[in-house]
Amino acid sequence: MSYPPFDLSGRVVLVTGGNAGIGLGFAEGLARAGADICIWGTSEARNAEALEKLSAQGRRVAALRCDVSDKAEVERSFAATLEQFGRVDGCFANAGIMSVQRPFHEMTEADLDRTFGVNLKGAMFTLQCAALHMKQRAEAGDPFGRLVVTSSLSAVSGLARGEDYAATKGAMLSVMRGLCVEYARYGVTANSIVPGWIETAMTGPLLESDKFVKAVTARIPLRRFGKPEDFAGIAVYLMSTASAHHTGDQFTIDGGYQNF
Ligand code: NDP
Repeated sequence: MSYPPFDLSGRVVLVTGGNAGIGLGFAEGLARAGADICIWGTSEARNAEALEKLSAQGRRVAALRCDVSDKAEVERSFAATLEQFGRVDGCFANAGIMSVQRPFHEMTEADLDRTFGVNLKGAMFTLQCAALHMKQRAEAGDPFGRLVVTSSLSAVSGLARGEDYAATKGAMLSVMRGLCVEYARYGVTANSIVPGWIETAMTGPLLESDKFVKAVTARIPLRRFGKPEDFAGIAVYLMSTASAHHTGDQFTIDGGYQNF
């Protein structure tokens, strides 16, 4: 017998960057638990591929082409999501890009604008739309909302040649603490997911180096990189009523890396 709060039937969840990697891991777990899902990404091809996978769960699913670094596009896409689904109960601001990874002293202003634009401003634009919608719903007598961001261990440990990326991830931890306090009165929780080393397109180039994989794996107590499906369970928990009193937290999913 399943645990009733983990039945997400009737819930609608938006996952940005939901067409691949960790975001698709969230989306697949949520769809399997019964939620309707809207994913956003910039690649029509990846959106279509993910949509096909998610459709197999038999829930309402949609994919929108949206570049989260463009505020107007985010607002249009959020309105389109609401038009299609009628509500958004959870928003996973997960879309992200890695930095160009130049030495810190060579990083250009354009490099910073690129990472800040997607990982920081993009996540904030998305969460702004969701927070407003959840506030309005609460004021109309239907208080419930889940705001989630995908941060990174780089927010707390040093990432050489990725200081711009790490800065966005650290900043989002601060943003989520603020949202936890500001929107609690509307029945909205705000939490951060902090992944360690996960096998996705983002880490693909690094995973081609045997030397790198060996060195990192030796530092992971569970002795493997994470996989997108390792993020399904936490998404279901956060969207459920089981997490109603759990807000302002950071969920580290890293196979124990941070402790070793
Ligand atoms: P992927 O490259 O597999 O996925 C990134 C996702 O973000 C894709 O769905 C991509 O879709 C989307 N995306 C990128 N840019 C934009 C944009 N401008 N607008 C909308 N969507 C966009 O990487 P991961 O799954 O690894 O990354 C997901 C999140 O996890 C990121 O925030 C990343 O920083 C974080 N993370 C990853 C770790 C890892 O080890 N992999 C570790 C710690 C954190 P599309 O290509 O269609 O635009």
